[in-house]
Amino acid sequence: MLLGIKRVLLEQGAESTSFGSRILERLPGADVEFISHPRQGNGASVEKQTLQLGSFPGQTLKKCPGTKGYLCCGYQILHIGTNCPMDCSYCILQAYLNQPYLRVFTNLEEKLAELAAHLDAHPEFLFRIGTGEFTDSLALDPVTGWTDLLLPFFEKRRNALLELKTKSVHTERLLDSSCRKRIVVSWSLNSPYVVSREEHGAPSIRQRLEAARRCQQEGFVVGFHFDPLVPHPGWKEEYRKTVDLMAEHLVPENVIWISMGCMRYLPELKSIIRRRHPKSMVLNGEFIPGLDGKMRLFKPVRIEMYAYMAEMLVQWHRDAGLYLCMESPDIWQETLGWTPEDSDGLSRFLDDRARRFFG
Ligand code: SF4
Repeated sequence: MLLGIKRVLLEQGAESTSFGSRILERLPGADVEFISHPRQGNGASVEKQTLQLGSFPGQTLKKCPGTKGYLCCGYQILHIGTNCPMDCSYCILQAYLNQPYLRVFTNLEEKLAELAAHLDAHPEFLFRIGTGEFTDSLALDPVTGWTDLLLPFFEKRRNALLELKTKSVHTERLLDSSCRKRIVVSWSLNSPYVVSREEHGAPSIRQRLEAARRCQQEGFVVGFHFDPLVPHPGWKEEYRKTVDLMAEHLVPENVIWISMGCMRYLPELKSIIRRRHPKSMVLNGEFIPGLDGKMRLFKPVRIEMYAYMAEMLVQWHRDAGLYLCMESPDIWQETLGWTPEDSDGLSRFLDDRARRFFG
């Protein structure tokens, strides 16, 4: 069974799109059940051996929801599916989604046509687009073939780039493709301690960095996201191991950006983590309510972690495109020694890096 998928729930018409029918062809042994409406349920109940195929009726592109007081990177989300086969204890999707299955949208070709019209209507704007907000961008790619459609689409665009955020090592289709332009492949990284205790079913840091190295060697631009940074016993030594592995595996000049964000959670996620992951330590430590309603690590802890990580990463590469995810200007100043002042400033910083790498 490819990626352990045993059952497919087919919403009306999903099999008649060419994208949907190709997915079904890749899952010949799965039980297929036709359903008249998307099945609802609970994102925390988790049924990752079932794949629900159907259309996404909503807006093609959505701005990442920023919050007053925190600087947002201006990234836009192309919604291609929800949920992923891994099971990280801290995953926000457990509280966010109202159904437990893997879900893939089969009207992607139609959505890309809408997206093309939108991009063409705004030639003055640079769109940084990602698919990794509600799912992992590559974990399901062997089944979905997302990248078969997305890479050729973005390669032709002058005013957009696609960031594929992942913890997986499913780069097979990327590497088979001849497209390289306007694609950033980025990995979520953490300390080996956090990976082994909290990121269930995810590849090790070494495996992720081996995949990143291969992508670099094959001409892809890469990025990294340390999110969520989690304080734990020996965290300094453990995070150093990851940065040492980065130095061992990567060519720094080809890294477009590295972001950092500390552990934060919606209040409703707390009981889900306690129930589903009773051995998790991501909730240990002092949390306070933030301006966005999420619980955030106590500010001095965040500052200590960012400053320590930044020092190590800058030692490795002075121009690594370091930025913070949803933090306030004073934390930027204190930990990175500069601030983009506001979300527009952060967008300009990332746009400039994108232009430097892709023209
Ligand atoms: S890889 Fe991402 S989407 Fe998948 S469980 Fe972990 S945090 Fe959630």
